[in-house]
Amino acid sequence: MVEIWTPTGYVDSFEEWKRRSKSIEKLSVYPAYVPTINQDPYGTLFRKYGFVFGSNEKPTDDNCGAIYRKIQCSSNALHAPSFRHTRCNDPGCPVCYVKFASRMADRATERVQGFKTVYRKTKPYHLIFWGAPRAERPYASLREAFAEARRLLKLMGAVSATVWYHPYRIRKELKGALRRYRRAKGLDGRAGFWKLAHDDVLNLGGLERYLEYGPHWHAIATGYLMDSKEYSEKYQAGYKKKRYLEHEREVHEVAHYISTHARREAGRASVRYFGDISYRMLARDLAEEKIVDVRCLHCGASLHEFDCGDTGVVFQKVKDNITEKIKYFLYWKKGTEKPQRAGNAQNLITRYNRDTGW
Ligand SMILES: [Zn+2]
Ligand SMILES: [Zn+2]
Repeated sequence: MVEIWTPTGYVDSFEEWKRRSKSIEKLSVYPAYVPTINQDPYGTLFRKYGFVFGSNEKPTDDNCGAIYRKIQCSSNALHAPSFRHTRCNDPGCPVCYVKFASRMADRATERVQGFKTVYRKTKPYHLIFWGAPRAERPYASLREAFAEARRLLKLMGAVSATVWYHPYRIRKELKGALRRYRRAKGLDGRAGFWKLAHDDVLNLGGLERYLEYGPHWHAIATGYLMDSKEYSEKYQAGYKKKRYLEHEREVHEVAHYISTHARREAGRASVRYFGDISYRMLARDLAEEKIVDVRCLHCGASLHEFDCGDTGVVFQKVKDNITEKIKYFLYWKKGTEKPQRAGNAQNLITRYNRDTGW
C-alpha cells in the first residue's frame, strides 16, 4: 500500500484518488437544509482578515487535480498504484493547497524532530491559544499576529513553540450539517471540518461561506504552562492543551491539518518558531544527501511510471525506475559545538523528498 498525506491523515493513495475523482464530480448534490448565510460577495471576509491556503473560490485551472501519470509496481500492477496530478501551484487553489500544506508540515515536522534529538527529555504537545477579544482591531498582518503570539506564549510559560495563525473558525451553525454529511458519506472523524469546507461539500459556493472571524493560534509547544484558569483570569486570554505528540507521524498529522487553513501572506513564512526551537537558538545543517530507488512497499520491486489518461488508463511507459532524494540533517544548540556525525547518528533527522504526485 502506498500511503500519502491528506488533511485527514495517512491514507492509501489509490483510495484517495478514487475519493477525489468522486469529489471532483461534486459528489451528489447535498440536500439544502443549510440556510443562506452570507450575502457579501465572495472574498469580503478574506480581504478583511487575511487569506488562508485554498481560499480561492475555484481552482485556477479546470485541470487542477487531474491525473496524468501512473506509478506502479514493476512485478505486480495491483500493488497499490499512485498517481501524479496536474497542478496550477497556486497556494490559494482549493485543489493545490494540499501540496503546500504538505510541504509546510514536512519542514515543521523535521524541525520538531530535530529539536527532540537535542532536548531528549522534552515532550511536545499540541496547543491552541487565543488573546483577549479585540474584534474592532483584527491582526492586520502576519507580523502583528505572530508578535501577539510571542507575547502570549511568554505569559503562558512556553519554552519552545512552532506556531501557525488561524484567523477563522468554522461557523458553529454549520457543524451539525457537516457532521450529517460525514455520516451520510461514511467518513469518520478524521475527515476534518476544514477538509469538508475546502471541498465545499454543502455547495455553499466556496470556503469563505463556512467561516467566521475567530483569531487563534496553534502550536507544537513544550514547557510547563501557567494554570489555565489563573492565566485566563489574569490576562483575559486562554489556551487549551491538546494531546502529546510522541511520534513523528503524530507531529506531521497535526502540522498538516493546521497548515491547510493557516493565514498566508506573500513572501512571509506561515509557520514561525519561538524560544528554544527558534532559528536563533537551534542550529541545523545538512549532513548528507542521497538519491535512492523507491521500491514497491509490498514486494520491494522497482517502480515504473506511465503516461495515463485522467481515469488512470495507461498509455506508455516513461520511466523504468523512480528515485527519491533523502536528506539527513544535524541539529544542535546554537553556541555549543556542532556535533560530529560519527557516534552521533541519533542526531540525524531524515527528510524524504517524496513526490507522491499530490
Ligand atoms: Zn490548482
Ligand atoms: Zn510490488
